[in-house]
Amino acid sequence: MAEPVWIEPDLQFKRRLLADSDTLKKCFQCGTCTVACPLSPDTEPFPRKEVLWAQWGLKDRLMADPDVWMCHQCNDCSQLCPRGANPGDVLAAVRQQVVEHYAVPSILARMVASPKWLPVLFAIPAVLMALAIWATGGFSARPEGSSHFFAAGIFLPDGQGFKQANFDHFFAHYPIIIFFTAFVGLALLGALAGLVRYWKAMDARAGGRRAEGSPSLIACAVETIKEILLHKKFTQCEATANRYWGHLLLFYGFGAMFLTTCLAALAYYTIGYPFMSLWHPVKLLGNLGGVVFLAGLAIVIAVRLRGGKLAPASGYNDWLFLAVIGLTVVTGMICQAARLVNTPIPAYGWYFVHLLFVFFLLVYLPYSKFAHLLYRTVAMIYCRYSGREAAQGALGAGALEEKKAA
Ligand code: SF4
Ligand code: SF4
Repeated sequence: MAEPVWIEPDLQFKRRLLADSDTLKKCFQCGTCTVACPLSPDTEPFPRKEVLWAQWGLKDRLMADPDVWMCHQCNDCSQLCPRGANPGDVLAAVRQQVVEHYAVPSILARMVASPKWLPVLFAIPAVLMALAIWATGGFSARPEGSSHFFAAGIFLPDGQGFKQANFDHFFAHYPIIIFFTAFVGLALLGALAGLVRYWKAMDARAGGRRAEGSPSLIACAVETIKEILLHKKFTQCEATANRYWGHLLLFYGFGAMFLTTCLAALAYYTIGYPFMSLWHPVKLLGNLGGVVFLAGLAIVIAVRLRGGKLAPASGYNDWLFLAVIGLTVVTGMICQAARLVNTPIPAYGWYFVHLLFVFFLLVYLPYSKFAHLLYRTVAMIYCRYSGREAAQGALGAGALEEKKAA
């Protein structure tokens, strides 16, 4: 006679999943979704097993399951589910709990996930930045010809801040870089700690499994980054094919703007060269990136808003992330316009708001939906490293067609 197996459900975990999706109530474990999913491997396929674990409240298993990140929430499987359930939404809800579970410090993740803390999360950078700007003289109209001295002997330019829109006169470049480097550095340390915890949990669950002949960690990372750059997995989904374009445009638009910021900072701090002209190639790249990004954002929002069975479930975290990243870009564009038409006071006001969104986006990165980029990447690398990806890759294009035909 088989030994009884004791399971210890985490009821709070299950209650949260039930609040996010009614799939747990509907699913009768037929396994159709697993067959329908174009990304699921033959060995230990998903998402049926994840839905089962979620129904049983097996939080520990799901918190160490890299497969939840292999799902791209395309909802191909939902089309065929005889119970009208959405397994992809369950996996998305689990992913959100993974971020909260491994976050360091976890209180920040809980705050970011809750609307009631939103004012506080914005008030923190508002107060800190106001103090930094006040300390560097940005709020005072400096008399013509005077200079301002900031800690560490950094000499700021002469004050003309209220005659000509120059962001350096409001929040000087050197203090701003110290300010953001310090907070973003802390955020990255928090992210790293969370990712290491997650890697260890996945490894412990798999018993340190590593397939014979698996590539090195670096080779796995390189392959994973290539796959992300090409957005290959999105192309295999059919039900919401336009999500591919939405994510692609968001990704490369954001990349172009990030590259522009890095190049501008590098040029400014090494040779003191400001990219002020709208027609400078680097500036053009940034603006083009902004337009591409907003086009991608419009597609992603349209997919979420259209509702129906194929739309991914959209909770507070999804909308918060889309709003913050979108407003970061829009306020940045407004700042640029205000500087070009030389309206100093509105320009500084919008600059302050823009920096608030930049802070929210980057410093709360390990605790918001932005962290999905990191956790998904780590899970994908782990799948390759442990040999799990080989099982997925074993499908291959031909096998995928067979699976679809079946
Ligand atoms: S297809 Fe629907 S009912 Fe069947 S296992 Fe998947 S979610 Fe459950
Ligand atoms: S939502 Fe798409 S990727 Fe996720 S399990 Fe369903 S079919 Fe697979």
